[in-house]
Amino acid sequence: MELNILVLPGDGIGPEVTEEAVRALRHVAAKFGHSLRLSEALLGGIAIHKTGSPFPDGTAKLALEADATLLGAVGLPEFDDAPPERRPERGLLGIRKTLGVFANLRPVRSYKSLLDSSPLKNHIVDGTDMIIVRELTGDLYYGTPRGISGSGEAEQAVNTMIYTRAEIQRIARMAFELARKRRRKVTSVDKSNVLEVSQLWRKVVIDVAAEYPDVTLEHILVDNCAMQLILNPRRFDVVVTGNMFGDILSDEGAVLAGSIGMLPSASVGPKRPSGAWVGLYEPVHGSAPDIAGQGKANPLAAIGSVAAMLEYSFGLKEEAAAVNAAVDAVLDSGRVTADLRPAGPPATTAQVGEAICQAIG
Ligand code: NAD
Repeated sequence: MELNILVLPGDGIGPEVTEEAVRALRHVAAKFGHSLRLSEALLGGIAIHKTGSPFPDGTAKLALEADATLLGAVGLPEFDDAPPERRPERGLLGIRKTLGVFANLRPVRSYKSLLDSSPLKNHIVDGTDMIIVRELTGDLYYGTPRGISGSGEAEQAVNTMIYTRAEIQRIARMAFELARKRRRKVTSVDKSNVLEVSQLWRKVVIDVAAEYPDVTLEHILVDNCAMQLILNPRRFDVVVTGNMFGDILSDEGAVLAGSIGMLPSASVGPKRPSGAWVGLYEPVHGSAPDIAGQGKANPLAAIGSVAAMLEYSFGLKEEAAAVNAAVDAVLDSGRVTADLRPAGPPATTAQVGEAICQAIG
């Protein structure tokens, strides 16, 4: 198979972790006999420095031509006070919109050797393996009317929570299809005891479930879900929810994995005729200016994003499993960066990347 991938290293530790992710990608592609067509472009602060725009037209064009995009991270302290259109983060919104990605997938796995890094008790976290599927384009964040008006005691603010049947169907189908490739269970999160939007959400998810009789569906209220995520995370397989609830719950889920340097993410969009999803893959973490350029960044979230890309955009499950198994092996070996608090001297970003390639074999 030919894999046509756009690489956007971005800012701060972005280029460092992306280099190791690409190294792992080359390694796994060679091992399984795939050919790679890689292109590289500018996004974020570096793009502003070189072109004046955080999301140059050339980057948009290459993203639309690629099968999938791998991103490092964006953000540079010198733009902290810049106007919105000259901020690196604007580049992220731009590429998400251009690709039409509507779902954010966050796989949350526990790793045996990192159990002590989670603030929760080992026996609760051990065996956790879920994907949180967050709708990305609707809900309170985009609904209108919105804004602040009036003054004095009468000053008021409004946001609008809104979802259409079509938007709910689209995200629900994605959750059910993911569940079919996993343990066949979908948990839909809402607040249907209070919100009409959630009542429609629940009704539409039930309608979509009829198309997937082989998948079990359960509903859970968002407040209970927040509690269950830390009481009994193993009960979840695929969790699907709207934009705002997903924003909060996915960060809560992140705590289970132990370190922000471990968390990959995928933003996926419409399905291609081949059945693969258009996708933007990136670590959850930012550009970490405090450790940039020092070889201290943990590349495992970026490498996990490569595994997600192989699975979701190319349907290459075996290759994805090989990358995930290499991550497990490297964690077990203790050859890890300082954020994972190794017993001995910490490995550098490049040493971890090298160890991953050795583990892939
Ligand atoms: P951050 O995720 O960059 O860093 C938070 C803390 O975690 C820092 O102490 C950092 O050193 C550490 N850390 C992060 N990734 C790590 C890794 N791979 N290995 C080891 N340690 C790691 O968040 P921040 O400091 O709030 O933001 C820094 C910049 O990144 C800001 O400009 C912000 O806007 C941007 N940002 C970008 C994205 C993105 O590109 N998707 C996401 C979040 C933040």
